Amino acid sequence: MKSIVCLGLMRKVMVVSAAFVFAALLSACSDQEETSGTNHGPDSSEPEVVTVYSARADHLIKPLFDEFTAETGIRVQYITDTEAALIARLQTEQDRTPADALLTVDAGNLWHAAEVDMLQPINSEIVRENVPDYLRASDDSWAALSIRARTIVYSTARVDPAELSTYEALADEKWFGRLCLRTSAKVYNQSLVASMIDALGEERTEDIVSGWVKNLAVDPMSNDVMVIQAIEAGVCDAGIVNTYYFGRQEAENPEIPVALFWPNQEGRGVHINISGMGITRYAKHPELARQLIDWLSSEKAQKDFAGLNKEYPVNPKVDPVPEVQAWGNFKRDPINVEQLGALQADAIRLMDRAGYR
Ligand code: FE
Repeated sequence: MKSIVCLGLMRKVMVVSAAFVFAALLSACSDQEETSGTNHGPDSSEPEVVTVYSARADHLIKPLFDEFTAETGIRVQYITDTEAALIARLQTEQDRTPADALLTVDAGNLWHAAEVDMLQPINSEIVRENVPDYLRASDDSWAALSIRARTIVYSTARVDPAELSTYEALADEKWFGRLCLRTSAKVYNQSLVASMIDALGEERTEDIVSGWVKNLAVDPMSNDVMVIQAIEAGVCDAGIVNTYYFGRQEAENPEIPVALFWPNQEGRGVHINISGMGITRYAKHPELARQLIDWLSSEKAQKDFAGLNKEYPVNPKVDPVPEVQAWGNFKRDPINVEQLGALQADAIRLMDRAGYR
């Protein structure tokens, strides 16, 4: 009876995403079961449950978790919140955490979770097979599950794509008053600048970022969609965004006078980042978490995991969805995404010096 009440309560809490209350309930409920003194022992008919802390939005993960449950019988309990809040919670809860796995966007966030010792090795032959090396942590603490490209967008009304070439070239004078950027506070831009530090060194990267700032048409914006809309509205002519945001705008208006451009094709390639997953340091069900990551990296799950957000699959055997394929092929920056985390603090300091807010 108690556990039915608990399950009902937890389901409600999950719906309103009251993360903290949910965790408290989860541990209270399991404590109750341990100490209730009833005598039924483990019941093989009770479903196994894996608990995920997710910074990836509900509508992007729920269909996948449901499919995983249908196939394996393992239920997925999850909460969604910002990555900073979830990592902080793991640190507060330590071995009392209900979380078995952490799902976040951006390699910088996963790198941080590993740095503060909140993850353990995944140790899966299947993941090693499904996910290329450069998309996994060298200490095996996390693996990417989708790839997102951060690329140039431009006005098809006012820009000839022949004018475009590299991220660096957006610092040229000819873009004065024509550029829109999202704020430097977003980890996406920190990771982009980290990739430039890795490729070009600090001095040259600082010159380029200062050039971007000089070329801004308006103050940096709070999200990528605003950048695309500003280009559409004629506020600026070019910007830098994650491709899936463009995909959303394009789905709303197939005639949108904005297009993607793949920069640095003669050089290091387009900056890519990831979303990915790790097993928490104090997971109570590391085996189930491993099974979930194995499944999410499989051919079967990859199309939807990437496709629901118009991203690129990490499993090389799986093609992107048709609307993403329509944007064309491009050369990717082969930097190990782990490096983006390691250089993040340098990137933040550099953007600050360059006046990028
Ligand atoms: Fe995003």
